[in-house]
Amino acid sequence: MRTAQRVLVIDDDVAVGEIVCASARAMGMSCDVTREPLTVVNLVTPDTGLILLDLMMPGMDGVEVLRLLGERQCKAGIVLMSGINIRVIETAKKLARTLGLSVVGHLQKPFALPELKAVLGATAAEEMPDAYIADPEIAIPDQELRNAFEHNEFVLYYQPQMSIATGEVTGVEALTRWQHPKAGLIFPDHFISHIEALGLMDRFCWITVDRAMADVKQFADPDGKVPRLALNVSVSSLRDLKFPDTFMSLAREHDFPAENIAIEITESGLIEFSLALDVLTRLRMRNIQLSIDDFGTGYSMMRQLQNVPAIELKIDKMFVQNMYSNHSDLVMVEKIIEMGHEMEMEVIAEGVETEDQFRLLREKGCDGVQGFLFSRALPPDELVGWLDSYRSRQVLQGQ
Ligand code: C2E
Ligand code: CA
Ligand code: CA
Repeated sequence: MRTAQRVLVIDDDVAVGEIVCASARAMGMSCDVTREPLTVVNLVTPDTGLILLDLMMPGMDGVEVLRLLGERQCKAGIVLMSGINIRVIETAKKLARTLGLSVVGHLQKPFALPELKAVLGATAAEEMPDAYIADPEIAIPDQELRNAFEHNEFVLYYQPQMSIATGEVTGVEALTRWQHPKAGLIFPDHFISHIEALGLMDRFCWITVDRAMADVKQFADPDGKVPRLALNVSVSSLRDLKFPDTFMSLAREHDFPAENIAIEITESGLIEFSLALDVLTRLRMRNIQLSIDDFGTGYSMMRQLQNVPAIELKIDKMFVQNMYSNHSDLVMVEKIIEMGHEMEMEVIAEGVETEDQFRLLREKGCDGVQGFLFSRALPPDELVGWLDSYRSRQVLQGQ
């Protein structure tokens, strides 16, 4: 794993290079600047974590640079900068993706310092997984995964969820990672289905729930109010009729109030689950909140949704991130918000990465947000520090 990052700025405007460098260095990253697009290839090293690229430069434009980076299979996160229309940035973003590049944000010039810091902070914090992790084709041997249970190698990270109306941190979502002894941190998309396949999901679920209930108390605000804990639970675990009781006894053990917990079930899982709604109903009767995750991807029918005692819909990040570039995704976001409200549910958008996305969601009446714009998922001790500084900024702004 890489933590400290190397930043590269490609811009013909000297002032931009200087500002970015100063901010990056202040945030503990090293920084190079070039005004010469042709030198880019030499400047990109394997430890370059972030590239800020101006799309409009004399001699060679940013699009050409993207092609060059694509050819070199560059793995760095790319931030596109431009003074021109946002649509141009969106088009360049799509192109970059088809070239296999990872665009992690954009800056529209002239940008304010906080915008720059948000981009640097979010992307720098997003550690680059190494090749082993990045390649989903490399199968993890069963025994290694079994060992992970024996050696307690799963760790929980937490991502804050914010109310759009008040800006207050209303909840935290627990997201599991596997601290592999050799490969480093492995993300859940690379091992969750493997855990299911080995029939270890229940065991995994209880480890997560137990740990999260213990961790979350340290995220209390100065008045002692603990944010709501959102837990991802696989539908296979919910098939167990004893699930609500086991869950409640763990909550009691931790002295953690059920009404301060939300269980997130994916929309696609819900469809599979539609014949056995009794477990969900029983959880709801015990005051545990239910949230439907990845909403919009699973083709739930409205009528089916009405039978589910959920109190919240989470708009899938794919729609949020394409809202500006794809009109049908914007319509989808609008409809989900409308539909959720009609059914008296709160609507949360996940994967919010830019101020623009945030503003649009607020305009459309979305209730909550979660995403790299605020913070990625962090280990508990780092989240405590993040909450401290976020909350004190909130207090200052309120004065
Ligand atoms: P999810 O529940 O939809 O979680 C949201 C994912 O989006 C997380 O990925 C999170 O880190 C990522 N994310 C958050 N904000 C942003 C953003 O602004 N931009 C982008 N590009 N991504 C963002 P992660 O942690 O890799 O988790 C992937 C999935 O693995 C989760 O998707 C969830 O379905 C599953 N998962 C994670 N932890 C657990 C667990 O303890 N139990 C179960 N059953 N599933 C889990
Ligand atoms: Ca989730
Ligand atoms: Ca989701």
